Amino acid sequence: MASKKELRQLAIEREQQRRNQQRAEACPISHVDFEAMVDHVSDYLVDHGHSHDFAVTAAFLKDHRLPVESTLSFLTERRIKDDWDVLVSGDAHGFFGSSSDRLVRMPLEESELNDLLDWVDAEIQRSGCDHTHRLTRTWLTEHGHPTTRSLGALMALGGFCDCEVAMNIETDGIYPRNNSESGRDGNPN
Ligand SMILES: [Zn+2]
Repeated sequence: MASKKELRQLAIEREQQRRNQQRAEACPISHVDFEAMVDHVSDYLVDHGHSHDFAVTAAFLKDHRLPVESTLSFLTERRIKDDWDVLVSGDAHGFFGSSSDRLVRMPLEESELNDLLDWVDAEIQRSGCDHTHRLTRTWLTEHGHPTTRSLGALMALGGFCDCEVAMNIETDGIYPRNNSESGRDGNPN
């Protein structure tokens, strides 16, 4: 028989699954469409900047024959108020749950990201940050990674320039740890 503690843990996990499912069901578009939407908005904003509205998000929905009004309502009800918020706070993982290999949106593998962070950190020590993504961009391009997509993902994690990439990005919150602690909520009660 399962102990009281195990039963309680199981109940917590079921409740989390139920909440994830409820949030996913409340979303007017599918998980796949949602991810494609965020990727598109992210790519566009990294390359073209943004105005404080939903122009890019709405255009994507319209182009893909997805419901515009209800999707924008879904977003605004969750405090996502414009395209910029979609890039910074619109990660599909937050609405549909984490995947087997990611807790948040990140095109780079863990070892790649570690190499990037180490290199950018070292370069900043030598020459400082000019508060652009000059160094991050250089590394991504030289190593053949999707530059725009990766920059958007780094921005969503607080990396708005090279020094912030080095300072704010932690691999722990990005890649799931496949040991027993990943399933625990860490709550002592
Ligand atoms: Zn900086």
